Amino acid sequence: MKRTISIEIKMIVASVFFTLLIVTLERYQFSENIVEQFVESKQSKNRLLIDTIAPIISLNLSLGLDEANQDYLDQIINQNRDVSRFELIDPNGKPLYRYVGKNLPTSSSDEENIHFCTKPILDPISGEKLAVLNLELDDREYRRVLEKNRETTLKIFGVTLLVLIVFITLIRQVFRSLKQLSENVSRYNPYENNFVLDMTKRDDEVGVIHNAIVSMVKRIAAHSKQLDEMNHSLEEKILERTRELENANHQLQALSITDPLTQLYNRRHFQNHIDELWELARRNGTEISLVMCDIDHFKEFNDRYGHIGGDIVLKETAQILKNSLKRASDFAARYGGEEFVIVLYDTTIEEAGSLCHAIGRNLAERGSFEHEGKVMPPITLSFGIASMVPDESTRYEQLVKSADELLYQAKLNGRNRVVSGCALSTRTLPKV
Ligand code: GH3
Ligand code: MG
Ligand code: MG
Repeated sequence: MKRTISIEIKMIVASVFFTLLIVTLERYQFSENIVEQFVESKQSKNRLLIDTIAPIISLNLSLGLDEANQDYLDQIINQNRDVSRFELIDPNGKPLYRYVGKNLPTSSSDEENIHFCTKPILDPISGEKLAVLNLELDDREYRRVLEKNRETTLKIFGVTLLVLIVFITLIRQVFRSLKQLSENVSRYNPYENNFVLDMTKRDDEVGVIHNAIVSMVKRIAAHSKQLDEMNHSLEEKILERTRELENANHQLQALSITDPLTQLYNRRHFQNHIDELWELARRNGTEISLVMCDIDHFKEFNDRYGHIGGDIVLKETAQILKNSLKRASDFAARYGGEEFVIVLYDTTIEEAGSLCHAIGRNLAERGSFEHEGKVMPPITLSFGIASMVPDESTRYEQLVKSADELLYQAKLNGRNRVVSGCALSTRTLPKV
């Protein structure tokens, strides 16, 4: 793992160095002032010196005490080491006393640090000019101290500034990383999985936050992928269940309208169907023919061949009946027991009669039935056909009733026949 300095330490170091920078500047300012004040005080001290020694020199000169003057001036030189030149010149330009220090200024910059003081020495009584005192005071040493101080301060300042810049750069890098991290986090969309940052090796606070966020994002991405997959499989399951339900619904619907034995429509569906058809025919002025048919002597048949044998005959008869229908609109249902109903939309009573004869013929052609090795004789059907163009005053039950009455007529007339309209047609069906 890459060892990085913690942000806390970086901040502390940066603050320390910032404080140091300020202190250095203060120090610089302070030492400048101190030296300036020192130089000033030294200059005023020198002025005081001249003012103090000038009357004594003038007294010595006026009294002609050349030796005492010499000693006195030597003493002054000894006591003031910063005097670089001391000259006493009489009005004729003749030097009366001269002292030249060892470190005389050599360069022009050195000369800047030399203070010249000139003072005329006057006779205390006559006021006559006895000599001129030229004094050179050397400030170079102080200036050197000041320069050294300046250099040290500048070095400290430079180093402090450099360290501060380094730490500010490091702190800025930290914030840059944080900015990059927060930009990535705010842009992150788990559906697009667009988080580009990877785990970092840095171990400072940013590294810890960075890695925590990256691992959290990875977990979110994995979770959202899992959720996506679950969603997908859930959707598939829902679709599958919906399909199964639809199929079950269709089957249920088919079952609810189908007679389980004959697989023809049941009586309930017949009622719904004719209800709708009646309304349609009434609006269109279309003729509807309704056939009621019933297996002849089925009770005897049942009694002789058993109920299962009877069921086989019922199923076969229903199949023949269904197969004999020609038009898509022709509709057959089991009305009850061994009785069937046929609804023929837009069909005349004659056309319906033909269909009934055809059914009779088909049944006759089918001939005898077989069950468990037993041969069951052929069966016959009796038909009652009623026809009507529905209007506002009529109901389909009337047509059913008429067809039922005509079927009864057919039974009365000897069975195996078609009776239509008002029982006018009593033509016998072919003998089987
Ligand atoms: P008809 O010629 O006058 O119609 O005489 P029929 O014997 O056919 O009429 P009836 O009404 O006396 O008898 C109908 C019989 O149909 C009675 C019943 O046992 C039988 N039957 C009704 N439904 C079923 C069924 O689902 N299966 C079987 N096997 N027989 C049934
Ligand atoms: Mg019957
Ligand atoms: Mg019957």
